[in-house]
Amino acid sequence: MSGNGSGSNDFYRSLLDSVSNDVHFVDKDRRISDWNPAAETISGYRTVEIVGHRCPEGRLLHCDATGKALCHEGCPLEAVLTGNQPETCEVFLRCRNGSRVPLIISASLVRKEEGLVIGVAEVFRDNSYAVSAMEEALRPGGDAYLDSLTEVGNRRFAEIRVQQVLELARSPGRPGALLFVDIDDFKHVNDTYGHNAGDQVLRTVTRTLRQGLRRDDLIGRWGGEEFVVYLAGVDTAEMIDVAERCRMLVASSLCSIAGNTIAVTCSIGAATIVQKDTLESLVARADAAMYQAKRQGRNQVCVAGAGERATVAIHGGRAG
Ligand code: GH3
Ligand code: MG
Ligand code: MG
Repeated sequence: MSGNGSGSNDFYRSLLDSVSNDVHFVDKDRRISDWNPAAETISGYRTVEIVGHRCPEGRLLHCDATGKALCHEGCPLEAVLTGNQPETCEVFLRCRNGSRVPLIISASLVRKEEGLVIGVAEVFRDNSYAVSAMEEALRPGGDAYLDSLTEVGNRRFAEIRVQQVLELARSPGRPGALLFVDIDDFKHVNDTYGHNAGDQVLRTVTRTLRQGLRRDDLIGRWGGEEFVVYLAGVDTAEMIDVAERCRMLVASSLCSIAGNTIAVTCSIGAATIVQKDTLESLVARADAAMYQAKRQGRNQVCVAGAGERATVAIHGGRAG
């Protein structure tokens, strides 16, 4: 697929360059031989950094929604090569900036005219919604509601939006849930790598959290290394799924700063909204569940029972 100057190759080259979806091509050894401009935009990796590398060699490091590293087990491209069937699934790519982004990938075999399989073409689509929803939500308030370091809503923004949500929650339906997210041992990051590195880790974690949320969810920086996330219209099981996904995505992100690779985890307290909730009661329940997660060893999700203090540990563990 890489251009050799022939008219037909030039045509396919410019076709690939002009599509807005990420398209890349791997040979039967999963060595990447084509990487279009949209792939550069989504991943942050330029063509020269990717083409020629085998995809399991540690750059893109796809994982699934449970955090399982797919390069060595469960690679969808491998499945296409061995099963001869096209495949569509959700994976999470590690971007050049270290954050995780959800993608829908569609992969299918590429054959030569005589039918010989030469590799797999993969088309990615960015499956994250939160960025555009957040930007829309912030527009009316402008900079007053923006946290300048992480570029998500600040505490004032989070308070106002959660109050609005609680007003709506007085009517029947599924009112949603609140997550309280606190980065684990963050002081150690600052002490070891410096405050600027800590700032960069905060940006990476925020980007990862935003990218893991759904269209109507909201995230705000509550203070320091703490965030609140409002999950729209979820029941308890869905809340746990999203919280666990956020935890896994943060644990499988990396931040490369001045030759150091910094990995962090987070503890998450999750509370479903009940009709009599105020901002204070809701945040207090989610915060108490987050502290329970800390006490139980960090890097885990704990769920606050509605109106009670009991919490349940879900699970933890670092992903690839
Ligand atoms: P735990 O797992 O119990 O949450 O431990 P921790 O170290 O994360 O918690 P602690 O509250 O002891 O420390 C939080 C640290 O976060 C201390 C503070 O310097 C750092 N911090 C807060 N805001 C910022 C910021 O904007 N940038 C940087 N680099 N550090 C920050
Ligand atoms: Mg804290
Ligand atoms: Mg902390």
